[in-house]
Amino acid sequence: MSNRRFTALKEALRNKPVEIPEIPAKVWEYYGINVFNKRAMQEYLPDDVYKSITENIEKSEKIDKKIADQVASAMRAWAISKGATHYTHWFQPLNGATAEKHDSFYIPSSDNRSIEQFDGAKLVQQEPDASSLPSGGLRNTFEARGYTAWDPSSPAFILDNTLCIPTIFIAYTGEALDFKTPLLKSLSFIDKEATEVCQLFDRSITKVIPTLGWEQEYFLIDEALFYARPDIVMTGRTLLGHPPAKGQQLEDHYFGAIAPRVKAFMKEFEYEAWKLGIPAKTRHNEVAPNQFELAPVYEEANIANDHNLLVMIVMEKVARKHRFRILFHEKPFAGVNGSGKHNNWSLATNTGKNLLSPGHTPKTNLLFLTFFVNFIKAVHKNADLIRAAIASAGNDHRLGANEAPPAIISVFIGSQLTKVLYDLKEKVKDDKMTPEEKTELKLDIGKIPKIILDNTDRNRTSPVAFTGNKFELRAVGSAANCGPAMIVLNSITADQLKQFRFAVEKAMEGGEDKDVAIFKILRDYIEESWPILFEGNGYSEEWVVEAEKRGLSNLKNTPDALGSYISEKTVKLFTENEIFTEKELHARYEIRLENYAKVLQIESRSLADLAGNHIIPTAIRYQNILVENVKGLKEILTEEQFKKQAESQIYIIGKISDHFTAIRQFVQEMIEKRKEANAIESAEKRAHFYCYEVKPYLDKIRYHVDKLEILIDDEMWTLPKYREMLFTK
Ligand code: ADP
Ligand code: MG
Repeated sequence: MSNRRFTALKEALRNKPVEIPEIPAKVWEYYGINVFNKRAMQEYLPDDVYKSITENIEKSEKIDKKIADQVASAMRAWAISKGATHYTHWFQPLNGATAEKHDSFYIPSSDNRSIEQFDGAKLVQQEPDASSLPSGGLRNTFEARGYTAWDPSSPAFILDNTLCIPTIFIAYTGEALDFKTPLLKSLSFIDKEATEVCQLFDRSITKVIPTLGWEQEYFLIDEALFYARPDIVMTGRTLLGHPPAKGQQLEDHYFGAIAPRVKAFMKEFEYEAWKLGIPAKTRHNEVAPNQFELAPVYEEANIANDHNLLVMIVMEKVARKHRFRILFHEKPFAGVNGSGKHNNWSLATNTGKNLLSPGHTPKTNLLFLTFFVNFIKAVHKNADLIRAAIASAGNDHRLGANEAPPAIISVFIGSQLTKVLYDLKEKVKDDKMTPEEKTELKLDIGKIPKIILDNTDRNRTSPVAFTGNKFELRAVGSAANCGPAMIVLNSITADQLKQFRFAVEKAMEGGEDKDVAIFKILRDYIEESWPILFEGNGYSEEWVVEAEKRGLSNLKNTPDALGSYISEKTVKLFTENEIFTEKELHARYEIRLENYAKVLQIESRSLADLAGNHIIPTAIRYQNILVENVKGLKEILTEEQFKKQAESQIYIIGKISDHFTAIRQFVQEMIEKRKEANAIESAEKRAHFYCYEVKPYLDKIRYHVDKLEILIDDEMWTLPKYREMLFTK
């Protein structure tokens, strides 16, 4: 039985009709209609302009001003034909959201007509007054200018009558202020290095593009209940709440039938996503009640990331329409599975090959092994940087907190490939190899079967797993921009491939046969990175001990994990390869520490408010009822009867006092700690102080609040409970 008020609230909102659009049955009739894609370009551009712009995009070349003007006017005509009235540069500032500033296509002229406002210059560059977006000290207010610049590799689209043009966002001084700029740099870095390595095997490979297939997990809750939970409104997660009697233990939600209201929501956002050319593919219930997942077909990493951000906006909008709220937070409910965003990553070539897919012949398998082993080596060398890339206050509740995946970075490759690597490690000799030994090795390598695609036993506890033809980074937070994780994977792999190529070239200069040189280098790499390979249970205590023995780090919280963003190794990697300057890295480090401290500040304030405005008053009110009851009993009962019958009430009265006294005391202490924290000048120290001195109070206070929740009359409890929020019918 649920609290009557909340049930009534839910009913009232649900009974308002939701207008669901009629969705045409044939997806291809509307797929991508809101995107200025090749089809639209072809229709709206003269042939020669179309040819040069597509060529420019393919080769990542600078776009001529005349061409830009023509593209702008085609874009405008196309957008207006679809009812768009405004345009915006759409960019990804470092606050984690996407930003837009809309301008109208027309401005009134002095003779009361309107003048078109959008030309090549406006398409290519803008100067949004975005001085309050985070810059980590890269922009002083006196030169707060930031520029957005067109990213022609990601197509423009229409959202709510506005033409959105994907752009990068950089400071007046040239430093990146967004996620996209370094992502694009990392993409061209890995293109260059991976192509050079491919050239050792296959001359026809001239371009390599990372692919990304993200899997987005999320929760839905009733809009009515969302508004009744100030903690969710303010922080995106519940700061208190006793676990329900039934959670996910029956495992009846995972892949179960989708509730009709939820299905209606999914259908509509998929429709919206398809119109935007987002290849949404699978949808299903996730492990936790009210948790779901959306996965698309993979795309080029830059476009895939734009699509992920865009789909999150669309989902949010459609959810509201269906009287839901969508929670992208990594851990909205304690004791219930959290949400991640698996990043499936691979490398595609211009020849249509997937470099992480084993082939049919020894030659193609050696190419596969080269990329496979170099990736593992890169992860081993840069595990801490990967950990830093995925760190956030929200993700701390998943990583290293007894759920998927652990904070220790390891790589799972399955037993078959482990054996292949083991054999390679053992069979390659240091001295000259005989032709027979070489042939045997090649035969072995030729035997890496395609079937591993189905055979990589799915170890769900590993943060990085090889799943047949791609690596899956499972530790990315559900609310995160994939950018930082992708930048790191691209850059560490590219840098590693560069080292590999140098080593091969050096050995060949010394007279070594190419294949033998490759075998030996891969053998050394396998040996060096063996400790990062782990096939066992990543949640177990034994792994924590074992990982330490292997020298792997276990960084449990964000402030500690972020440190490797500015380590000597990271600075060298990123500056040498021109992905980030040292200044940019420090700025990002600052911004993320600031963000961490702010999130904790807001959580701590919200919990103190809730305790003061909801919990303690409710506890006192209920306690008063019990006190009155006890007084009444005293009047009507004999001394002996009273002793027996009032005992439990008196016990509860005492318990309530104990809990709220503890709550009050902890809240006071937490407020004092917060004051101390806020006085700390250094962002690094402040974030650590929040983590080690303020955060523990969130748990301490919650413990007592959750105890009160089960003591106090349900009808009096002012906040919807887990069981009310988590089971949507
Ligand atoms: P799951 O991991 O849930 O078992 P799949 O293995 O089918 O599911 O794939 C999950 C995701 O992997 C999908 O989003 C898909 O687009 C993506 N994916 C598949 N192949 C590639 C690839 N070559 N590069 C990047 N992502 C890929
Ligand atoms: Mg997956």
